[in-house]
Amino acid sequence: MKKLKRFDIILIGFLLFASLVLFTVFGTIKRKGKRVVIKQNDTVVYSGELSKDGEVSLKHNTVKIENGEVFMKSADCKNQICVKTGKISKSGETIICLPNKVIVEIE
Ligand SMILES: [Zn+2]
Repeated sequence: MKKLKRFDIILIGFLLFASLVLFTVFGTIKRKGKRVVIKQNDTVVYSGELSKDGEVSLKHNTVKIENGEVFMKSADCKNQICVKTGKISKSGETIICLPNKVIVEIE
């Protein structure tokens, strides 16, 4: 019984450590975005490296990629919410321009 308990503690400790490592690794992956995907009307119109600076001009929107960050440089929508969203750089973050049906996503 005593041996088993000690083994349990080691096992729990190991599991805690493993989950902590996984959490840290997953957190790092989630923090750094790798690719920029721009969709218009649910269709991918642009896909490229986040590390490559550039500008993507769409009909109604201009998306700028600079220093590993993405932002809506300009848009002709009325609310300008997409422009006000500011810079995104983390995986899972998005800039959405609802009136123009444009979605900028970081993967
Ligand atoms: Zn907009």
